[in-house]
Amino acid sequence: MLLNNIQEVRDEVRKWRKDGLTIGLVPTMGALHAGHVSLIKKAKETCDKVVVSVFVNPIQFGPSEDFDKYPRTLDNDTELCDNEGVDVVFAPSAKEMYGEGQRLSNDVLTYVCPPFFYVNKLCGRTRTGHFDGVCTVVLKLFNIVQPDYAFFGQKDAQQVVIVNKMVNDLNVPVKIIQCPIVREDSGLALSSRNKYLSDEGKKDALVLSRILNNIKACYKKGITDVNALKETAYSFLNNHHELEYLELMNKYTLEEQEKADNSTIALIACRVEGVRLIDNIYLED
Ligand code: AMP
Repeated sequence: MLLNNIQEVRDEVRKWRKDGLTIGLVPTMGALHAGHVSLIKKAKETCDKVVVSVFVNPIQFGPSEDFDKYPRTLDNDTELCDNEGVDVVFAPSAKEMYGEGQRLSNDVLTYVCPPFFYVNKLCGRTRTGHFDGVCTVVLKLFNIVQPDYAFFGQKDAQQVVIVNKMVNDLNVPVKIIQCPIVREDSGLALSSRNKYLSDEGKKDALVLSRILNNIKACYKKGITDVNALKETAYSFLNNHHELEYLELMNKYTLEEQEKADNSTIALIACRVEGVRLIDNIYLED
């Protein structure tokens, strides 16, 4: 069932609650692919009822980012959700979510702003305000759907850490379930933004997973010095790649580390054909 209004979602959820059913939410920006489907399948396994939100959230995009050209494929998304047995696809307009005539800045909107420690690094360093926008929309979705469980991908590792922090700090009654990264056979992590890449660009984009896999292999061979591990990346990069960051951190706290250990996640962001791609890997599972 496709719903566009908040009230309709609340009415539907109220019926489910009355019947004692558990509810799962999968927040997305649409252009659904097998990565999203893995979250939906996990939600179906875990919960009686599943809501998928499809909303390209304007307040998490910077002025020079790809909000206008972000792929919007609602008909396909709805069909895919129907095939997966999703109960409600919630696809609100920006007006439904934020009201009319808002400039959507934090002068006029109550924002959820995660702590500086978590946003002053990785994607937050170049995407100013991005995680304020993410936390604000995610908390709104939690308040609208009131799910027991919400499903997020490890693909956006910083996002999951920050959403968990918000949920803990604000006592939001939802359990966050993190799902593994789904990749193409080539190793490329699935992303709605892969649609922007040419065939050649997709080949160049393999550098992200190659660098991460190589770091993991070096760690397994006994190299733990973070700088030494990072340096192994350079031989993979050429002038088709614009590396934005490569970091090794504690996967729970996003603290930087000098020595890698069983808590370490390696995270990378790199532009290929101007498209900003991200990926990450745990050095031990
Ligand atoms: P998005 O539509 O890009 O905002 O993503 C919605 C959710 O799907 C987020 O929790 C993402 O982390 C997750 N996701 C995106 N790509 C993948 C992937 N390749 N594997 C697993 N989860 C993913």
